[in-house]
Parts: sequence; C-alpha cells; structure tokens
Amino acid sequence: MSDLRRYFGWVARPQFLIGFVVICLCVGALGTIDRAASKRSLAITVGKPRVKGLHQTVSPVPDCAAVPCMALTFDDGPNTAITPRVLDILAQEQVKATFFVVGQRVAGREYLLRRMHNEGHEIGNHSWSHPPFIQIPPADMEMQLRITQQAITAAGVPAPHLFRPPYGAVDPTVMGHTRMAIIRWNVDPADWELKDAQQVKDHLVAMARPGGIVLLHDMYPSTADALGPALKELKPYYQFVTVSQLLNITPGDQGFYSGRQRQFSP
Ligand code: ZN
Repeated sequence: MSDLRRYFGWVARPQFLIGFVVICLCVGALGTIDRAASKRSLAITVGKPRVKGLHQTVSPVPDCAAVPCMALTFDDGPNTAITPRVLDILAQEQVKATFFVVGQRVAGREYLLRRMHNEGHEIGNHSWSHPPFIQIPPADMEMQLRITQQAITAAGVPAPHLFRPPYGAVDPTVMGHTRMAIIRWNVDPADWELKDAQQVKDHLVAMARPGGIVLLHDMYPSTADALGPALKELKPYYQFVTVSQLLNITPGDQGFYSGRQRQFSP
C-alpha cells in the first residue's frame, strides 16, 4: 500500500487535478471546432445537388503563392471514347481540370458531365455548335449560350459561369452579349494540330508556367496519351486547379481572361 501511495499519490495533488481538468476542456473545445469545420466543409460539398445522390468532391482552396498553379482546360467534348480516359488519368493523378463542353454533344452523354462534376472538375460553356461568334448575329450568340446552359443543367450539374469562345474569337460585340466570364488560354501545346502524344507532351512540359491556362481537347487519343506523362513531369512543380480557382472567379464575373489578369470589361 505504501508503495502504491509512493507511485500514485501525486494523482491526488490539486495541481494535477487542475491540469487534468484544463486538458479535458481543451480537448473538448478542439473537438467542437473540428466538428464545426467538418460541418462547414460538408455544407460546401453537398450544396444544392440537382440530382439525388449527386455531390461534388471539393478541393481545398489552393495556395498558388506556395506552389505555382496551372489550369488544364479540355474543349470540344464530351466524347464517349476520350473523355472517360482523360477523367481516369485526372483521377489517378488527383488533378482537377475544367471542361468546356459543346452543347449539342451533351445529349446521351450527360453521365460524363455528372462524372466531371462529381470528381471535382469545373464545367464551362463552349457554345452549342461551335461557330465563330464574331461571325454570327448577337441573337444567335445568345441562343447558342442559352441552350447550352440548358443542356448542361438538364444533365444535373450546376450552370456554368465560364464561356470559352470557339476558336478563341472575341470582339466587343461578343463580350457585350455574354453574361459569363470569357476564358481564352495562354498555353497552347497545339494538340489539335500535332495529334502526336510525344510532341504534345513535350510542348506542354516546355510551355508550362505559373498561371498557365492550357488549351487541350478531350477528343484526340493523342491528347489522352500525352496527359499522364506530362502530369508526371509537371506535378512536382505545379498544382493543377480549375479555371475559377486559378483566376478567383465567382458567378457574375463578366471579365475577359486569357491569363491571370482580367483583360478588359464589356
Ligand atoms: Zn473548341
């Protein structure tokens, strides 16, 4: 008994009891903060799903000052053969990207849009039938944008707030009739022209730079083939984010961007 008192008698001292109570209170408080934080992130994750069971994996806000950011963009899909391959590679490499979809290609491929959204990617509007907007009347521009928004939201994903003009063709009239942020690019590895995986990979790696908005197309096998090797080389130096994350764009922004800086306003 005297041995027990010698070893454990300190437990009964008031200093120990006060310390014990303080530690318990701190642990309890941390638990509360942690629970509050996870409730907040849950609220963001499941915010207003349009389809039952649909919710997006939201990445933490990137710190582009700590690790340079780039945004990969994939135009002209969805494509039943290539888009799933691109999504598989992005998932494997844990990279987020932005898909500028063509409205008339959405029918029957809505599942690909839901997969893009569920896996944390951003979806943008790339017009209904890909005409050069600078050559069509304003009423047609508005119709192209409107029915593409409808096709995208009918797939059960949020309405885009980014527009990539076909061919990057923009003038003040186009800007005046587009109530979305207009996004061009500042890195073009020419996958649409080369259609050669090795060359596309080499170009992409050589042209990579902080703040890069990379123009790619999820319609060429060579682009999908180039993607994995390019990411393996670039990931040690860059984090890949969506366009809205890169440019800090929120819905309602009607700016025109072809790089980090807003170019001009309508
Ligand atoms: Zn295009």
